[in-house]
Amino acid sequence: MDKIWGQARAELERIVGTDNFATWIAPLRLTSIQGDTAAIACPTRFLSDWVSRHYSDDIQKVLEITGNPVQRITFDVAPASTRGRKPAAGKGPAIRPTVRRQDDDLTAPLDNRFTFDNFIVGKPNELAHAAARRVAEGGPVTFNPLFLYGGVGLGKTHLMHAIAREMQARQPEARVLYLSAEQFMYRFVQALRERSIMDFKEMFRTVSVLMVDDVQFIAGKDSTQEEFFHTFNALVDQGKQIVISADRAPGEIKDMEERIKSRLSCGLIVDLHPTDYELRLSILQSKTETFRASHPGLVIAPGVLEFLAARITSNVRVLEGALQRLFAFASLMGREITLDMTQECLADILRSSDRKLTIEEIQRKVAEHYNIRLSDMIGPKRVRTVARPRQVAMYLAKQMTSRSLPEIGRRFGGRDHTTIMHGVRKIEELRGSDHTIAEDLDLLRRLLEA
Ligand code: ADP
Ligand code: MG
Repeated sequence: MDKIWGQARAELERIVGTDNFATWIAPLRLTSIQGDTAAIACPTRFLSDWVSRHYSDDIQKVLEITGNPVQRITFDVAPASTRGRKPAAGKGPAIRPTVRRQDDDLTAPLDNRFTFDNFIVGKPNELAHAAARRVAEGGPVTFNPLFLYGGVGLGKTHLMHAIAREMQARQPEARVLYLSAEQFMYRFVQALRERSIMDFKEMFRTVSVLMVDDVQFIAGKDSTQEEFFHTFNALVDQGKQIVISADRAPGEIKDMEERIKSRLSCGLIVDLHPTDYELRLSILQSKTETFRASHPGLVIAPGVLEFLAARITSNVRVLEGALQRLFAFASLMGREITLDMTQECLADILRSSDRKLTIEEIQRKVAEHYNIRLSDMIGPKRVRTVARPRQVAMYLAKQMTSRSLPEIGRRFGGRDHTTIMHGVRKIEELRGSDHTIAEDLDLLRRLLEA
């Protein structure tokens, strides 16, 4: 086994790169290959989760290259003491010597474009923007943490970078630490591996401001969550500002410990709503102006930006990508950007934006959300726990698809169109009076639009 693994490791290092190799692969050991299954021992549960999620395909491929094809890989947790640490480490390619990281190295690089100046404010993001500005001004900590959440590509990372940059500019002596949850985890694992966990704790607990992006990422990673929780508490106790982002509200993050969720909910929670037409148009106009500053020859026919704002509704990242492609195409061809050219050049993006949401998808997501069976969506049960989610699904079907009431009725087990109408009205009414329903609708819409 050691011989096979030695070869596989050499190959893996080439594929995943030295850093990833040292962090994720080097601590592993191949324990057996039986039939079509290879067993790999990992020193911690965390490592086994991570590696099985990110590297099992690579490992499988490499085993095949080295003449040991398998269909399946199991990752078992074997404590380090039984691993024969030194001999195992001596066999494969040498592990790089430990490099002590500098403080400055700890924070992730900030994107120059992600400033407050470049952030276009509209209804869907004005609250998040205002909160971010307030935190960036420094001063006494009023809400801790600031928790920003919203769907992908709506500007969470942009706002986080803008806060970090502004704070650094205003308080050069402050140590502002910005990193993704993934990087937090990476550093944590690295510290465990290098047995420098005390330094790790020290480093994190002496920062002035901690910003962790995409925190949903550490859900389910027990030891990382634990460490994050302690770091978080230590900083809050010292009155240090914390800014967190996630793709959903704290309460909605699965596999996150309750005490962490409740801690995360203690400060101010603001969400970035899906973009609306006005915001999309302003973003397109602003990006066009910026581009035109360096490409004065650019000509765009009237109506093109409006067309894009109406048709590309997914998120700002897609919108930006579309515009960039259009600019590249236009300058390459030396032509004016017309509506025809836009449709031709962006055919694929426009088509995928056009994706029709089905009633079935809505029913499935709603059933999942309320933890009921999909069959109960269609079935006859009248108990509130089933009837209410069913009405929510009816409402979303009416709002988010172009199906008629009788058509929707058919998809809900042949119900009459008046039943659907009643359901839709009921939810409309509740939306105004019951904020749980309002939040559910918001979240579901976001999930369905993603
Ligand atoms: P998230 O982190 O929420 O997934 P990002 O912050 O990475 O999204 O934003 C995706 C892209 O869209 C970035 O290039 C960002 O600059 C841009 N963007 C998002 N919202 C805005 C906005 N309101 N104004 C200008 N650019 C934006
Ligand atoms: Mg992001």
